[in-house]
Amino acid sequence: MATTGLMSTYRQMDVAFEKGEGVWLFDTEGNKYLDAISGIAVCGLGHCHPKITRVIQEQAARLVHTSNLYRITNQELLGKKLCEVSGMDAVFFGNSGAEANECAIKIARLYGHGKEIDKPTIIVMDHSFHGRTLATLTATGSRKVQAGFEPLVQGFVRAPYNDLEAVRTIASNNPKVVAVLVEPVQGEGGINIASDAYMQGLRAICDEHGWLLMLDEIQTGNGRTGTYFAYQQMGFVPDVVTTAKGLGNGMPIGACLARGPASTTFKPGNHGSTYGGNPLVCGVALAVVDTIVSEKMPARAKALGERILQGFRAQLEGAEYISEIRGKGLMIGIELKEPCAELVMLAKTQGLLINVTADKVIRLLPALTMSDSEADQLVSTLSKLIKIWAADERTKPRR
Ligand SMILES: *Cc1c(COP(=O)(O)O)cnc(C)c1O
Repeated sequence: MATTGLMSTYRQMDVAFEKGEGVWLFDTEGNKYLDAISGIAVCGLGHCHPKITRVIQEQAARLVHTSNLYRITNQELLGKKLCEVSGMDAVFFGNSGAEANECAIKIARLYGHGKEIDKPTIIVMDHSFHGRTLATLTATGSRKVQAGFEPLVQGFVRAPYNDLEAVRTIASNNPKVVAVLVEPVQGEGGINIASDAYMQGLRAICDEHGWLLMLDEIQTGNGRTGTYFAYQQMGFVPDVVTTAKGLGNGMPIGACLARGPASTTFKPGNHGSTYGGNPLVCGVALAVVDTIVSEKMPARAKALGERILQGFRAQLEGAEYISEIRGKGLMIGIELKEPCAELVMLAKTQGLLINVTADKVIRLLPALTMSDSEADQLVSTLSKLIKIWAADERTKPRR
């Protein structure tokens, strides 16, 4: 029996925070932590950014919710702004990343049926993560996420990540394919970075076959990788792009952006959400996007990411326990040769919040507002900790 009154869906650490400021969190016992994970890439502007806090307060006092039975000015303003920033034509707003991807999947299916393809199929990748709803967990390339929830949703076919030949092979064998859904950097999968050539190649294959190229930028978007969306440093535009996480800086919002035919597949009645795009979340997200763009935060993310990567490489590269140190902007992965989940607890005792994903990859997703000295503190604290942990590992009996 759970003692918290909650379903036991999460393996939680025994700490609760009561205050946040920039990259710092304060727990209920008065301890201070450097947050290098930002609520899993959500609080890109840091905790309780003063401008965002003011917008939350003002909008909450003016109007929170009316439903999509009526026009919502903030939703229209945010839609326009996101289209301008992304080069897309239209947006649908939901409340989470998974919902943004559900929207993309529905667009792909309608688009396919429009071409008289009776069982429209979407190509998805190994080690991907697209969410926890039935369709998005089916799209996810992890048995752990799927196990126990069969029967899974039909209409997905899987390819290895960063492997263009595999997609070409599917193209020549499967006439039902209508779209490709892919992350430019796999976050949950272990900070796996797609090459520009791979992403450009996907664009070319999609063009050749009339497929939709759908990018899941839920984690990579909103400035984190060095441009507002990651594809903007690869020289092409997708047909559909989904985002969430950093878009609301903590307000629950997801967006599915589309261009060309994909932007006009839905007709009234095809899709909807009661809360989606309400005046409060859209007012806040508008301030988030404005801040990211006007303060040139994507460029800052790139520079800061390079500084952090260089720092870790100087400290750790070549050590026998390190597999690889990699990153794109402020998505940084340090892959070790051994499972290293216990580093999360050890880091917490040092006042540092990190994440480990794919068993062996330390994942860092710091706020775009982190200062150089805070970044240096992150590098030195974590490098020291990894060295101590690795020395301890060596003296432990082998598993
Ligand atoms: C977090 C994430 C999702 C799911 O978002 P939720 O808001 O948890 O539903 C989907 N795709 C990617 C790439 C993510 O990082």
